[in-house]
Amino acid sequence: MAYTISSECINCGTCDSECPVEAISEKDGARWIDSGLCQDCGACAGVCPVEAIASA
Ligand code: SF4
Ligand code: SF4
Repeated sequence: MAYTISSECINCGTCDSECPVEAISEKDGARWIDSGLCQDCGACAGVCPVEAIASA
């Protein structure tokens, strides 16, 4: 199971630099997680200021 980013994302970019496998990208004014790359480590979820990232 991969982590996903909800519509609550304010596109701050904090999660981006936390990801060890660069699974997080920007698209249409928000961040999204490539489920094929995500290793389910949870590092991104811990730093999101609006709690937009959760395990799917
Ligand atoms: S859970 Fe880990 S591997 Fe998956 S997107 Fe977040 S930081 Fe990257
Ligand atoms: S840390 Fe949260 S609000 Fe910031 S870009 Fe990532 S998902 Fe969006």
